[in-house]
Amino acid sequence: MKNIKLSKSSIGDSEKLAVMSVLDKEYLGMGEEVRHFENELTGFFGRETTCVSTGTAALQLAVQCAGIGVGDEVLVPSLTYVASFQAISATGAVPIACDIEEEYLSISLKDAELRLTSNTKAIMLVHYSGAVGDFDSVLEFAKKYNLRVIEDAAHAFGTSYKGQKIGSFGDITCFSFDGIKNITSGEGGCIVSGDTELNARIRDARLLGVEKDTEARFSGTRSWEFDVSYQGWRYHMSNIMAAIGRVQFARLGELGAKRQLLAHRYVEQLAKQDKVRSLLMDFTTTIPHIFVVRLPSSTDRDELRNALKLKGIETGVHYQPNHRLSFFKLTSQAPFPVLDKVFPTLLTLPMHPDLELADVDFVINTLNELLR
Ligand SMILES: *Cc1c(COP(=O)(O)O)cnc(C)c1O
Repeated sequence: MKNIKLSKSSIGDSEKLAVMSVLDKEYLGMGEEVRHFENELTGFFGRETTCVSTGTAALQLAVQCAGIGVGDEVLVPSLTYVASFQAISATGAVPIACDIEEEYLSISLKDAELRLTSNTKAIMLVHYSGAVGDFDSVLEFAKKYNLRVIEDAAHAFGTSYKGQKIGSFGDITCFSFDGIKNITSGEGGCIVSGDTELNARIRDARLLGVEKDTEARFSGTRSWEFDVSYQGWRYHMSNIMAAIGRVQFARLGELGAKRQLLAHRYVEQLAKQDKVRSLLMDFTTTIPHIFVVRLPSSTDRDELRNALKLKGIETGVHYQPNHRLSFFKLTSQAPFPVLDKVFPTLLTLPMHPDLELADVDFVINTLNELLR
């Protein structure tokens, strides 16, 4: 039987060699490889980039170092990985769950506006599956209400919006390099911003708040006499992770093109029927992290997922709305009409660089048969 995975890392000999070469040098922590990776990413985005241990750490540091914390509120779409919510609450700030708009499943500004208070300090937007939505309107909204804009761009590495790379503009952009993202460093993430003061705080905060420790480590030394003036964390990236990340980053063209090829095949195959539809996205400028479709509202999603599983096709559900989670439902005021309606119809189909076009055809044919 087939075993078509929902997602997986795509690792070649070059990643393995890169890890071996770090092991050979016997300097595993944060050093030269991280410095090179950061320089390469800074060149790519045209803005200073700081690497950290996970995408969640990137989001937490972005919120904290923007000066947001206890007593503050951050608007965030309920349809996101719980990482976005936990990153906000880890700083002491309160994530305010917002409804989504129906086209790109991104935050609804109409709903967000209703949830504004005098404590609202930022809006976190999530490029769900890679779809950027109406970013210009979010930037306008933020300007109008004097909010920081933190992008959870975990799904959007390599994606462009109106001809500009995500991460190359805006306020603060956070990426994840976890094992299944568009590029991976094993685990990892980065923060990109044009705000030099914020970047300096992030660089210290990722190393326990030890002043200028980044600069010391990059020059092969270490700070022995130092001061710490605020809460920091052990959120730096290791040379092993950066070595994997650098190879994956060099492969972005290849990995991204494969994802786009598969997405185009999905769209082409889905166009032959009218029950299931994909999200409205331009896969020449978007590198899809996940491939989400909307099922007819009459479909029993669990039953369908089980039937697909029996045919060897793994599927997913992105994501359990955060306003329903015990930890966050107290601060998440109903209603969420669009998300409550849309969520039961969302299904994520297999998407990763090692998938073949024939696999996509098999997935869609099987889906068609089961929905007949
Ligand atoms: C993966 C992901 C994160 C967190 O990234 P990690 O590197 O896994 O910590 C945050 N938000 C979204 C939407 C994600 O998919």
